[in-house]
Amino acid sequence: MRIIADRDRCVGSGQCVLTEPNVFDQDEEDGIVELLVERPDADSEKNARQAVQLCPSQALSISEE
Ligand code: SF4
Repeated sequence: MRIIADRDRCVGSGQCVLTEPNVFDQDEEDGIVELLVERPDADSEKNARQAVQLCPSQALSISEE
């Protein structure tokens, strides 16, 4: 699976970072999401999927490729 982050939709709430800090980070200046990895490993996949569900602005999505 691959995570897709739409930085134009992100409102910088940081929920994704709290949920899976191995996959998500935030820009230090504007708080917009940054992906540390596009393809989470097995240990991070469950939390990454949860982060996609929890994002308040639907800025995150998953491609099952
Ligand atoms: S949870 Fe969504 S809105 Fe919040 S920082 Fe992450 S991508 Fe942006």
